[in-house]
Amino acid sequence: MEKNFEGLLQDFQELVHKIKYYNEALAVIFWDLRTGAPKKGVPGRAKVIGMLSTEAFRLSTSQEMGDYLSYFEQKDNFSKLDPIYRAIIEECRKEYDRSKKIPEAMYKEYVILTSEAESVWEEAKNTDNFSMFSPYLEKIVDFNIKFIDLWGFKDNKYDTLLDYYEPGMTVEKLDRIFEQLRERIVPLVQKIKDSSYKPDDSMFFRNCYDTARQEEFSLMILDKMGYSFDAGRLDVSEHPFTIGMTPGDVRITTHYYPDNFSSALFSSIHEGGHALYEQNINIELEDTPLGTGTSMGIHESQSRFWENIIGRSYNFWSCYYEDLKKIFPEEFKSVSLEDFYKAINKVEPSLIRVEADEVTYNLHIMIRYEIEKALINKEVKVADLPRIWKEKMKEYLGIEPKNDKEGVLQDVHWAGGSFGYFPSYTLGNIYSAQIYHTLRKQFSNFDELIKKGELTKLKDWLGENIHRHGKLLTPAEILKSVTGEEINSGYLIDYLESKYKEIYNARLSIIAFVSGTAWKPPPTY
Ligand code: ZN
Repeated sequence: MEKNFEGLLQDFQELVHKIKYYNEALAVIFWDLRTGAPKKGVPGRAKVIGMLSTEAFRLSTSQEMGDYLSYFEQKDNFSKLDPIYRAIIEECRKEYDRSKKIPEAMYKEYVILTSEAESVWEEAKNTDNFSMFSPYLEKIVDFNIKFIDLWGFKDNKYDTLLDYYEPGMTVEKLDRIFEQLRERIVPLVQKIKDSSYKPDDSMFFRNCYDTARQEEFSLMILDKMGYSFDAGRLDVSEHPFTIGMTPGDVRITTHYYPDNFSSALFSSIHEGGHALYEQNINIELEDTPLGTGTSMGIHESQSRFWENIIGRSYNFWSCYYEDLKKIFPEEFKSVSLEDFYKAINKVEPSLIRVEADEVTYNLHIMIRYEIEKALINKEVKVADLPRIWKEKMKEYLGIEPKNDKEGVLQDVHWAGGSFGYFPSYTLGNIYSAQIYHTLRKQFSNFDELIKKGELTKLKDWLGENIHRHGKLLTPAEILKSVTGEEINSGYLIDYLESKYKEIYNARLSIIAFVSGTAWKPPPTY
C-alpha cells in the first residue's frame, strides 16, 4: 500500500536521524584520535572512519533521499511541513546536489589526491620545498575549477566556494568589505609600528608556567563563561579544536606550553566560544543537519567575540587578574594589571597567521583571499605563488618571509582543498564587532557586567539571539535579526582603532603617571 504524507515524513525523519547518528559516531572517533588514542589503534580507527563516512555519504545521496526530496518539494507537500522540516529539506537538497553533480570516480580521485597532498605538504613545509608541493596544488586547483563548472556559478567562480562556508557570501560583497578594511587597517598597523611604545610580553615566554595550573585557570574561566561541563569536557590535543556531537556533548581541546603562557588560555577561551554556540542550539534540531552553527563565519564570530573582545579586554582582566595571580603568585608577582593587559594586546606584524594579533590578523586573510580568487579564476599560476606571497606580505604588513615555510607553505588548508574557507576568519571578526556594538546597546551596564564577571548574562543573550537557531536561519538573517544591519566592517575598524590607539598612546600615560596620574583603562563606546 502506498504510504501517505505522514508515513513518508516519518520515514524521511528516520533517514535524516540515521545520517546524523553516523556523523556523531564519526565525531567521537575523530575526537578520540586527536586526544590520545593509542598509536597502534589508529589504523583500525581509520577503517571504521572509512566505513561510516562512506555509509553516511551513500545515504545522503541515495535514490531514497532523492525520492523524498522531490516528494516533499512538491508545493502541496512543502506547505504542510513545519519550518524546521522545510529548512531540513532545503539543507538536504543542497548536500544532495553538491554530491550528485560530481561523478563518483572523479570525487574518489580527488579524495586520494588531497590526502596525499596533505602529507606531501607537511614534508614540503618542513624542508622548505615549494616545488615539491606545487604539482599537487595545481591539480587541486584544477579539480576545484572543474567542480565549480559542474555545480554552476553566477558571477564569479569563487562565489561557489565562498557559499559553501558562508551561504550567501559573494566576491562582489567581499571585495568591498576587504577594501574598506584594508583602507583603515594598513595605516593603523603602520601607526602602531611607528609608535615608540612597545608593550613588553616577555613575561609570557619564561619557561615557568606549570601546565596543571594553566589547566586549572582555563577550567575556571570556561566555567565563568557558562560552558557546561555536564555537556562537555576540556582535553589536550596538538591543535586546539571544538567538536560537537549534540548540544549535550560538545568537547573542546587546548594545548599547554610551559614557555608560552597566553597560548593555551586564549585557545581555551576561543574554543569555549565555539562550544557555547553548539551547546545552546535548540534541542529540537539535535538529530538533524540543522543542529550546528549556521556558517563558519558566524561560528568564528562567537569564538573571537569571547577570545578578543571579552578575553582581551581591560574590564575582563580587572575582574580575573587577581584570580590568575592566586594560581601563579610568583610568576605574576611583579606584573601590574596594566602591563598584563598591554602584553596580551601586543601588535606586531608577523609572518605566521595563527600567531597574529587581532589587528594584523585580517591582513593575513586578505592575502590568502586574493590569491585564492586569482587561482580559481586562472589569473595567476601556482608556480608564481611564492613571489606573489612575498609581494603581498610586503605591501600589507611591511615584512617579507625569507623562505616559503614561513610564507606560502604555512597553512594546511590548500593541501586539503579548503578553498573559500579563509575569509570566514575575517568575517567572524567583523560579525563579532557588530554583535558587540549591539550588546553594548542592549546592556547599558555592559562594562559593569564584565567587571563583575557576570559573563553568563552575555552567554544567555547570545544563546537566545544566535545560538538556539542553529542552521535554521542563514548567516545574513542571523546578523540582521541581531544587529538590524547587513554586514558592516566599520564596527570592527572602530573597535580596533579605539582600543589600540589607547594602548599605543601609553608613552603619554607613563609621563602622566610620573606626574602623579595613574594609567586609565581605554574608554569604551
Ligand atoms: Zn575558531
